[in-house]
Amino acid sequence: MFQQAKNGIEMVNSDQFVIGIVLLFLFTDGPLKYVATLLIIDYLKGFNILLVAKNHLQQVFRDITLGHKKRGPEVELHRTPKNFRLLKVSRVGNNCREFVFATNDTTRALNLPTGQHIHIHCSSNGEDIRRSYTPTEYKVPGSFTVLMKCYPGGKMGTYMSTKKAGDRVMISGPVGHLTYEGNGKFKSGKHSITIRKLCICAGGTGLTPAFQILKHVQDNPHDNLQILFLYASSTEQHILLQEELEVMNKDPRITVAHTVSRPISQDWDGYSGRVCKDIFDDFYGQGIDLESSLDGFGAGYCGPPKFEKVVKELFTDMGFEKNISLFRW
Ligand SMILES: Cc1cc2nc3c(=O)[nH]c(=O)nc-3n(C[C@H](O)[C@H](O)[C@H](O)COP(=O)(O)OP(=O)(O)OC[C@H]3O[C@@H](n4cnc5c(N)ncnc54)[C@H](O)[C@@H]3O)c2cc1C
Repeated sequence: MFQQAKNGIEMVNSDQFVIGIVLLFLFTDGPLKYVATLLIIDYLKGFNILLVAKNHLQQVFRDITLGHKKRGPEVELHRTPKNFRLLKVSRVGNNCREFVFATNDTTRALNLPTGQHIHIHCSSNGEDIRRSYTPTEYKVPGSFTVLMKCYPGGKMGTYMSTKKAGDRVMISGPVGHLTYEGNGKFKSGKHSITIRKLCICAGGTGLTPAFQILKHVQDNPHDNLQILFLYASSTEQHILLQEELEVMNKDPRITVAHTVSRPISQDWDGYSGRVCKDIFDDFYGQGIDLESSLDGFGAGYCGPPKFEKVVKELFTDMGFEKNISLFRW
Protein backbone atom coordinates (compact mmCIF):
# COMPACT_ATOMS: atom_id res chain seq x y z
CA MET A 1 0.00 0.00 0.00
CA PHE A 2 2.78 2.44 0.86
CA GLN A 3 5.63 3.10 -1.48
CA GLN A 4 8.87 4.90 -0.84
CA ALA A 5 8.86 8.31 -2.53
CA LYS A 6 12.07 9.78 -3.97
CA ASN A 7 12.51 12.08 -1.00
CA GLY A 8 12.19 9.26 1.51
CA ILE A 9 8.70 10.12 2.69
CA GLU A 10 6.13 7.37 2.52
CA MET A 11 3.15 8.05 0.35
CA VAL A 12 -0.06 6.32 -0.54
CA ASN A 13 0.09 4.32 -3.74
CA SER A 14 -3.26 2.66 -4.08
CA ASP A 15 -4.02 2.43 -7.81
CA GLN A 16 -7.76 2.64 -7.25
CA PHE A 17 -7.37 5.71 -5.08
CA VAL A 18 -5.21 7.47 -7.68
CA ILE A 19 -7.65 6.58 -10.50
CA GLY A 20 -10.44 7.96 -8.30
CA ILE A 21 -8.66 11.30 -7.89
CA VAL A 22 -7.97 11.57 -11.63
CA LEU A 23 -11.64 10.85 -12.41
CA LEU A 24 -12.65 13.45 -9.84
CA PHE A 25 -10.37 15.95 -11.55
CA LEU A 26 -11.68 15.15 -15.07
CA PHE A 27 -15.39 14.98 -14.36
CA THR A 28 -16.06 17.56 -11.66
CA ASP A 29 -16.01 21.30 -11.37
CA GLY A 30 -15.70 23.94 -8.68
CA PRO A 31 -14.42 23.00 -5.18
CA LEU A 32 -14.16 19.25 -5.96
CA LYS A 33 -11.88 19.91 -8.94
CA TYR A 34 -9.79 22.15 -6.69
CA VAL A 35 -9.47 19.37 -4.05
CA ALA A 36 -8.59 16.81 -6.76
CA THR A 37 -5.87 19.17 -8.10
CA LEU A 38 -4.35 19.55 -4.63
CA LEU A 39 -4.37 15.77 -4.08
CA ILE A 40 -2.70 15.16 -7.46
CA ILE A 41 0.03 17.72 -6.63
CA ASP A 42 0.44 16.10 -3.21
CA TYR A 43 0.76 12.67 -4.83
CA LEU A 44 3.27 13.82 -7.49
CA LYS A 45 5.45 15.63 -4.95
CA GLY A 46 5.48 12.61 -2.68
CA PHE A 47 4.10 14.47 0.34
CA ASN A 48 2.12 12.38 2.76
CA ILE A 49 -1.14 14.24 3.24
CA LEU A 50 -2.97 11.28 1.69
CA LEU A 51 -1.31 8.90 4.09
CA VAL A 52 -2.10 11.11 7.09
CA ALA A 53 -5.71 11.49 5.91
CA LYS A 54 -6.06 7.72 5.45
CA ASN A 55 -4.65 7.04 8.94
CA HIS A 56 -6.87 9.71 10.44
CA LEU A 57 -9.96 8.20 8.81
CA GLN A 58 -8.97 4.74 10.07
CA GLN A 59 -8.55 6.16 13.57
CA VAL A 60 -11.93 7.91 13.43
CA PHE A 61 -13.45 4.61 12.30
CA ARG A 62 -11.79 2.81 15.26
CA ASP A 63 -13.04 5.46 17.66
CA ILE A 64 -16.57 5.01 16.38
CA THR A 65 -16.50 1.20 16.40
CA LEU A 66 -14.58 0.69 19.67
CA GLY A 67 -15.99 3.66 21.51
CA HIS A 68 -13.73 6.47 22.65
CA LYS A 69 -13.72 5.39 26.31
CA LYS A 70 -12.13 2.03 25.60
CA ARG A 71 -9.02 3.65 24.16
CA GLY A 72 -8.82 6.14 27.00
CA PRO A 73 -7.87 9.77 26.57
CA GLU A 74 -4.11 9.44 27.15
CA VAL A 75 -3.18 7.81 23.87
CA GLU A 76 0.06 8.42 22.01
CA LEU A 77 0.43 5.07 20.29
CA HIS A 78 -2.25 3.61 18.05
CA ARG A 79 -2.67 0.26 16.36
CA THR A 80 -2.88 2.27 13.17
CA PRO A 81 0.61 3.58 12.34
CA LYS A 82 1.11 7.25 13.09
CA ASN A 83 3.90 9.61 12.10
CA PHE A 84 6.48 10.40 14.77
CA ARG A 85 9.15 13.05 14.25
CA LEU A 86 12.80 12.22 14.85
CA LEU A 87 14.49 14.63 17.25
CA LYS A 88 17.96 13.13 17.19
CA VAL A 89 19.93 10.28 15.64
CA SER A 90 23.28 9.17 17.04
CA ARG A 91 25.61 6.32 16.20
CA VAL A 92 26.29 3.88 19.02
CA GLY A 93 29.14 1.39 18.68
CA ASN A 94 29.06 -1.21 15.96
CA ASN A 95 26.23 -0.70 13.43
CA CYS A 96 23.86 0.62 16.12
CA ARG A 97 21.97 3.85 16.13
CA GLU A 98 19.98 5.58 18.83
CA PHE A 99 16.82 7.26 17.56
CA VAL A 100 15.11 9.82 19.78
CA PHE A 101 11.54 10.50 18.66
CA ALA A 102 9.20 13.29 19.77
CA THR A 103 5.84 12.26 21.18
CA ASN A 104 3.07 14.00 19.27
CA ASP A 105 1.83 15.69 22.42
CA THR A 106 4.98 16.98 24.10
CA THR A 107 3.32 16.97 27.53
CA ARG A 108 2.85 13.20 27.37
CA ALA A 109 5.10 10.18 27.58
CA LEU A 110 4.58 7.26 25.24
CA ASN A 111 1.74 5.11 26.60
CA LEU A 112 3.77 1.91 26.51
CA PRO A 113 3.18 -0.63 29.26
CA THR A 114 6.40 -2.14 30.62
CA GLY A 115 7.11 -5.42 28.81
CA GLN A 116 5.57 -4.30 25.52
CA HIS A 117 7.10 -2.93 22.34
CA ILE A 118 6.30 -0.85 19.28
CA HIS A 119 6.23 -1.57 15.55
CA ILE A 120 8.18 0.60 13.13
CA HIS A 121 6.82 0.53 9.58
CA CYS A 122 8.44 1.18 6.22
CA SER A 123 8.25 -0.11 2.70
CA SER A 124 10.96 -1.93 0.80
CA ASN A 125 10.54 -2.54 -2.95
CA GLY A 126 6.79 -1.97 -2.65
CA GLU A 127 6.45 -4.45 0.23
CA ASP A 128 5.10 -3.26 3.59
CA ILE A 129 7.67 -3.97 6.30
CA ARG A 130 7.00 -3.96 10.04
CA ARG A 131 9.53 -4.74 12.76
CA SER A 132 9.40 -4.82 16.57
CA TYR A 133 11.47 -2.49 18.76
CA THR A 134 11.49 -2.00 22.52
CA PRO A 135 12.11 1.64 23.46
CA THR A 136 14.87 2.01 26.05
CA GLU A 137 13.36 5.27 27.34
CA TYR A 138 9.62 5.88 27.20
CA LYS A 139 8.53 7.24 30.58
CA VAL A 140 9.63 10.85 30.10
CA PRO A 141 7.10 13.29 28.64
CA GLY A 142 7.95 14.57 25.17
CA SER A 143 10.20 11.85 23.75
CA PHE A 144 11.10 8.18 23.53
CA THR A 145 14.26 6.40 22.47
CA VAL A 146 14.84 3.37 20.26
CA LEU A 147 18.22 1.65 20.11
CA MET A 148 18.50 -0.19 16.80
CA LYS A 149 21.13 -2.42 15.27
CA CYS A 150 21.14 -1.75 11.53
CA TYR A 151 22.15 -5.10 9.97
CA PRO A 152 23.78 -4.76 6.53
CA GLY A 153 21.05 -5.80 4.09
CA GLY A 154 18.41 -5.66 6.83
CA LYS A 155 15.26 -4.03 5.45
CA MET A 156 14.34 -1.86 8.43
CA GLY A 157 18.00 -1.23 9.30
CA THR A 158 18.70 0.06 5.79
CA TYR A 159 15.59 2.25 5.85
CA MET A 160 16.31 3.71 9.29
CA SER A 161 20.00 4.35 8.59
CA THR A 162 18.95 7.02 6.04
CA LYS A 163 16.87 8.86 8.64
CA LYS A 164 17.94 12.11 10.27
CA ALA A 165 16.54 14.64 12.74
CA GLY A 166 13.31 16.17 11.42
CA ASP A 167 12.29 13.10 9.38
CA ARG A 168 9.08 11.31 10.20
CA VAL A 169 8.65 7.58 10.76
CA MET A 170 5.48 5.51 10.94
CA ILE A 171 5.05 3.80 14.33
CA SER A 172 2.25 1.75 15.87
CA GLY A 173 1.67 -0.09 19.13
CA PRO A 174 1.66 -1.07 21.92
CA VAL A 175 2.43 -4.66 20.91
CA GLY A 176 3.28 -7.73 22.97
CA HIS A 177 1.71 -10.56 24.88
CA LEU A 178 3.45 -9.81 28.15
CA THR A 179 3.10 -6.90 30.56
CA TYR A 180 5.09 -6.27 33.71
CA GLU A 181 2.86 -4.70 36.35
CA GLY A 182 5.49 -4.32 39.07
CA ASN A 183 6.41 -6.21 42.26
CA GLY A 184 7.13 -9.36 40.26
CA LYS A 185 3.69 -9.52 38.61
CA PHE A 186 3.62 -10.45 34.91
CA LYS A 187 0.43 -10.66 32.87
CA SER A 188 -0.11 -12.49 29.63
CA GLY A 189 -3.68 -12.33 28.35
CA LYS A 190 -5.92 -13.68 31.11
CA HIS A 191 -3.02 -15.34 32.94
CA SER A 192 -0.84 -13.71 35.51
CA ILE A 193 2.03 -14.84 37.66
CA THR A 194 3.87 -13.21 40.52
CA ILE A 195 7.50 -14.14 40.99
CA ARG A 196 10.25 -13.17 43.39
CA LYS A 197 13.24 -13.72 41.12
CA LEU A 198 13.66 -13.31 37.37
CA CYS A 199 16.51 -14.85 35.37
CA ILE A 200 17.04 -13.03 32.08
CA CYS A 201 19.41 -13.93 29.29
CA ALA A 202 19.74 -11.59 26.30
CA GLY A 203 22.04 -11.37 23.29
CA GLY A 204 22.96 -8.27 21.26
CA THR A 205 20.01 -5.91 20.77
CA GLY A 206 17.84 -8.51 22.53
CA LEU A 207 19.00 -6.46 25.52
CA THR A 208 16.27 -3.87 25.00
CA PRO A 209 13.23 -5.81 26.37
CA ALA A 210 15.33 -6.89 29.37
CA PHE A 211 16.50 -3.32 29.88
CA GLN A 212 12.87 -2.19 30.13
CA ILE A 213 12.21 -4.52 33.10
CA LEU A 214 15.56 -3.68 34.73
CA LYS A 215 14.82 0.04 34.44
CA HIS A 216 11.32 -0.41 35.82
CA VAL A 217 12.73 -2.11 38.93
CA GLN A 218 15.57 0.43 39.23
CA ASP A 219 13.14 3.36 39.02
CA ASN A 220 10.68 1.88 41.55
CA PRO A 221 12.31 1.56 44.98
CA HIS A 222 9.38 -0.46 46.30
CA ASP A 223 9.50 -3.09 43.55
CA ASN A 224 10.83 -6.21 45.28
CA LEU A 225 11.61 -8.29 42.15
CA GLN A 226 15.18 -9.59 42.08
CA ILE A 227 16.82 -9.94 38.70
CA LEU A 228 19.77 -12.02 37.53
CA PHE A 229 20.68 -10.70 34.09
CA LEU A 230 23.19 -12.42 31.80
CA TYR A 231 24.05 -10.39 28.71
CA ALA A 232 25.86 -11.97 25.74
CA SER A 233 27.84 -9.84 23.26
CA SER A 234 30.33 -10.62 20.48
CA THR A 235 33.16 -8.60 22.10
CA GLU A 236 33.48 -6.10 24.95
CA GLN A 237 33.11 -3.34 22.36
CA HIS A 238 29.68 -4.66 21.33
CA ILE A 239 28.19 -4.31 24.82
CA LEU A 240 25.24 -1.92 24.56
CA LEU A 241 24.12 0.49 27.31
CA GLN A 242 27.17 -0.56 29.32
CA GLU A 243 27.27 2.47 31.62
CA GLU A 244 23.56 2.16 32.42
CA LEU A 245 24.01 -1.56 33.17
CA GLU A 246 26.95 -0.80 35.48
CA VAL A 247 24.77 1.60 37.48
CA MET A 248 21.97 -0.99 37.60
CA ASN A 249 24.42 -3.62 38.86
CA LYS A 250 24.96 -1.51 41.99
CA ASP A 251 21.28 -1.91 42.89
CA PRO A 252 21.04 -4.73 45.47
CA ARG A 253 18.02 -6.20 43.63
CA ILE A 254 19.86 -6.48 40.31
CA THR A 255 22.85 -8.62 39.30
CA VAL A 256 24.31 -8.11 35.83
CA ALA A 257 26.94 -10.38 34.28
CA HIS A 258 28.41 -10.38 30.79
CA THR A 259 29.68 -13.08 28.53
CA VAL A 260 31.55 -12.16 25.36
CA SER A 261 32.16 -14.64 22.54
CA ARG A 262 35.56 -13.20 21.55
CA PRO A 263 37.18 -11.14 24.31
CA ILE A 264 39.61 -8.54 22.95
CA SER A 265 41.30 -7.48 26.17
CA GLN A 266 43.40 -9.84 28.27
CA ASP A 267 41.97 -8.09 31.32
CA TRP A 268 38.41 -9.12 30.50
CA ASP A 269 36.95 -10.38 33.78
CA GLY A 270 33.49 -11.45 32.64
CA TYR A 271 32.55 -14.85 31.20
CA SER A 272 34.14 -15.79 27.88
CA GLY A 273 32.46 -17.73 25.12
CA ARG A 274 28.91 -18.28 23.93
CA VAL A 275 26.22 -19.04 26.49
CA CYS A 276 26.43 -22.66 27.65
CA LYS A 277 25.50 -24.91 30.60
CA ASP A 278 28.67 -24.10 32.56
CA ILE A 279 28.03 -20.35 32.38
CA PHE A 280 24.34 -20.83 33.26
CA ASP A 281 25.13 -23.07 36.25
CA ASP A 282 27.78 -20.67 37.51
CA PHE A 283 25.77 -17.46 37.10
CA TYR A 284 22.19 -18.49 37.88
CA GLY A 285 23.46 -20.99 40.49
CA GLN A 286 24.45 -17.95 42.63
CA GLY A 287 20.80 -16.99 43.06
CA ILE A 288 18.96 -20.28 42.66
CA ASP A 289 19.41 -23.63 44.26
CA LEU A 290 19.42 -25.45 40.94
CA GLU A 291 18.37 -28.73 42.57
CA SER A 292 15.29 -27.27 44.28
CA SER A 293 11.84 -26.21 43.07
CA LEU A 294 11.62 -23.13 40.86
CA ASP A 295 8.51 -21.86 42.66
CA GLY A 296 8.63 -18.07 42.67
CA PHE A 297 11.11 -17.90 39.79
CA GLY A 298 10.68 -16.86 36.19
CA ALA A 299 12.97 -16.71 33.16
CA GLY A 300 12.95 -14.67 29.98
CA TYR A 301 15.15 -14.40 26.91
CA CYS A 302 15.57 -12.41 23.70
CA GLY A 303 18.22 -12.34 20.99
CA PRO A 304 19.18 -13.66 17.55
CA PRO A 305 17.35 -16.88 16.52
CA LYS A 306 20.26 -19.33 17.11
CA PHE A 307 21.03 -17.74 20.46
CA GLU A 308 17.37 -18.01 21.51
CA LYS A 309 17.28 -21.71 20.60
CA VAL A 310 20.30 -22.45 22.84
CA VAL A 311 19.04 -20.30 25.72
CA LYS A 312 15.57 -21.83 25.60
CA GLU A 313 17.10 -25.32 25.91
CA LEU A 314 19.34 -24.22 28.78
CA PHE A 315 16.44 -22.70 30.72
CA THR A 316 14.27 -25.75 30.00
CA ASP A 317 17.06 -28.02 31.31
CA MET A 318 17.14 -25.92 34.48
CA GLY A 319 13.45 -26.79 34.97
CA PHE A 320 11.67 -23.71 33.60
CA GLU A 321 8.61 -24.67 31.63
CA LYS A 322 7.33 -23.03 28.50
CA ASN A 323 4.48 -21.02 29.90
CA ILE A 324 4.47 -17.67 31.55
CA SER A 325 7.37 -18.74 33.84
CA LEU A 326 9.63 -19.15 30.78
CA PHE A 327 8.98 -16.52 28.18
CA ARG A 328 10.49 -15.07 25.07
CA TRP A 329 9.82 -11.42 24.38
C1 LIG B 1 9.96 -8.16 20.86
C2 LIG B 1 11.14 -7.70 20.02
C3 LIG B 1 11.81 -6.54 20.35
C4 LIG B 1 12.90 -6.11 19.58
N1 LIG B 1 13.54 -4.98 19.95
C5 LIG B 1 14.60 -4.56 19.21
C6 LIG B 1 15.30 -3.34 19.57
O1 LIG B 1 14.93 -2.64 20.52
N2 LIG B 1 16.37 -2.98 18.81
C7 LIG B 1 16.79 -3.73 17.72
O2 LIG B 1 17.77 -3.35 17.06
N3 LIG B 1 16.13 -4.87 17.36
C8 LIG B 1 15.05 -5.29 18.06
N4 LIG B 1 14.38 -6.40 17.66
C9 LIG B 1 14.74 -7.04 16.37
C10 LIG B 1 14.03 -6.26 15.21
O3 LIG B 1 12.62 -6.46 15.31
C11 LIG B 1 14.45 -6.71 13.79
O4 LIG B 1 14.33 -8.11 13.70
C12 LIG B 1 15.88 -6.29 13.44
O5 LIG B 1 16.02 -4.87 13.56
C13 LIG B 1 16.23 -6.69 11.99
O6 LIG B 1 15.31 -6.11 11.09
P1 LIG B 1 15.74 -5.76 9.59
O7 LIG B 1 14.48 -5.51 8.82
O8 LIG B 1 16.77 -4.68 9.57
O9 LIG B 1 16.46 -7.09 9.08
P2 LIG B 1 15.80 -8.24 8.15
O10 LIG B 1 15.55 -7.69 6.80
O11 LIG B 1 14.62 -8.83 8.90
O12 LIG B 1 16.95 -9.31 8.14
C14 LIG B 1 18.02 -9.22 7.18
C15 LIG B 1 19.25 -9.95 7.69
O13 LIG B 1 19.74 -9.27 8.86
C16 LIG B 1 20.32 -10.20 9.74
N5 LIG B 1 19.59 -10.18 11.01
C17 LIG B 1 18.30 -9.77 11.22
N6 LIG B 1 17.98 -9.86 12.53
C18 LIG B 1 19.08 -10.35 13.15
C19 LIG B 1 19.39 -10.66 14.49
N7 LIG B 1 18.48 -10.48 15.49
N8 LIG B 1 20.63 -11.13 14.76
C20 LIG B 1 21.54 -11.30 13.79
N9 LIG B 1 21.31 -11.02 12.48
C21 LIG B 1 20.11 -10.56 12.17
C22 LIG B 1 20.20 -11.55 9.14
O14 LIG B 1 21.37 -11.81 8.40
C23 LIG B 1 19.02 -11.38 8.19
O15 LIG B 1 19.05 -12.30 7.16
C24 LIG B 1 13.31 -6.85 18.43
C25 LIG B 1 12.62 -8.02 18.09
C26 LIG B 1 11.56 -8.46 18.88
C27 LIG B 1 10.84 -9.72 18.48
